[in-house]
Amino acid sequence: MQKRSGWIQKSKKDIQEIFRFCEEYKSFLDRSKTERETARYIREHLAENGFSEDCSGERVFRVNKGKEVAAYRRGAKGPAEGLRIIVAHIDAPRLDLKQNPVYEDVDLALLRTHYYGGIKKYQWVAIPLALHGVVIKADGATVEIAIGESDDDPVFLIDDLLPHLSRKVQDEKKLSEAIEGEKLIVLFGNIPLAGAEKDAVKQSALNILKDRYGISEEDFVSAELEIVPAFKARDVGIDRSMIGAYGQDDRASAFTLLKAICDGEAPKQSCLALFTDKEEVGSEGNTSVRSNFLQLFLYDVLTAMGVKADEATIRKALFNSKALSADVNGAVNPTFQDVHEKQNACYLGRGICISKFTGHLGKSGASDASAEYVGEIRRLFDRAGVIWQTGEMGKVDEGGGGTVAKFLASYGMDIIDCGAPLLTMHSPYEISGKIDIYETYHAFQVFFRS
Ligand SMILES: [Zn+2]
Repeated sequence: MQKRSGWIQKSKKDIQEIFRFCEEYKSFLDRSKTERETARYIREHLAENGFSEDCSGERVFRVNKGKEVAAYRRGAKGPAEGLRIIVAHIDAPRLDLKQNPVYEDVDLALLRTHYYGGIKKYQWVAIPLALHGVVIKADGATVEIAIGESDDDPVFLIDDLLPHLSRKVQDEKKLSEAIEGEKLIVLFGNIPLAGAEKDAVKQSALNILKDRYGISEEDFVSAELEIVPAFKARDVGIDRSMIGAYGQDDRASAFTLLKAICDGEAPKQSCLALFTDKEEVGSEGNTSVRSNFLQLFLYDVLTAMGVKADEATIRKALFNSKALSADVNGAVNPTFQDVHEKQNACYLGRGICISKFTGHLGKSGASDASAEYVGEIRRLFDRAGVIWQTGEMGKVDEGGGGTVAKFLASYGMDIIDCGAPLLTMHSPYEISGKIDIYETYHAFQVFFRS
């Protein structure tokens, strides 16, 4: 049962191909810092690869509110006989600006935030941050903002206390309490507006926004502005075997899924890729996997094919489907190995990780794939030479996590979790292994062709 590093099985030529593939992955990550930017990248890539919004075609896609995308490829068999579905999420932990975020204190213009998803707050201080998102102005016009990505852009930052003064207010506290949510306040400006009597620095900062983007302070109320790390994706390690970047949970799955749905000959079974939003906050809301988007999209695809798409037909199609819930997993941490049960953990460099179940404390909240389905996936991957491993997240009572698998499983389809192992998962700079990213792509391609 002892699996080994996948790199051993790769030739020089294979490694070149893996590295080449990952260059495109890195540029995708740099252009996809938010769910909206990711959805746009996906949409553009799909359009370049022959996908259109015309549901009668062989390659079809649809975007839900700019934050969720479904892509469909017609197979030799119609969708009513069941689909091959892979779902990945395109949202990532971040800090959202509050709806009334700007204030001034101690001669600084500052922005208040409300964090999104599971973060360790202390990781977000004293690192360069970028501001991305959209503002809907009073007249309904949309303004897009992305500051902090190009080399001559300014960046933003959350101040941390100098060690000389932090002994009582931080150092003696628990790590989880050393930085509180309300203290995730972003530095925004320091030059006061000449002649202004009150809040002169805030006024000056707001004036810059007015000049550059035509937005006013009131417009923040109808904005979705996200503070994300300003880091670029880079190779990690002397051998360049790893990638450091923000948002690889779960854009590692999203990118590999995007490539897999586009590449290759027409599939036997009809295939569906779903790039969903709001996974990091429990898949609630109208762009999450629990919205009606998937069913409505299928309805339109079936109808365009001349199939009478009543509710029973769509339910049967989903019931007869086979699916992968694509999401990353936490690889064994070299310095905190005790949280893992290493016989059932995943390791960086050993390929895509299959998890029969997720959940926490006695498999609570898990979708547990059947032995039969695990057997099917295992045979499929082995036949095609996919490098894969299995892994649970952490020791039995250590914690755990959930994915979207259970929501799709409720339609009755077979589904199993799988994805690349990551180090520093959910941090501002997550680490993936290049071979694991490549094998995830390989696995998705094989699944769509099955
Ligand atoms: Zn995830």
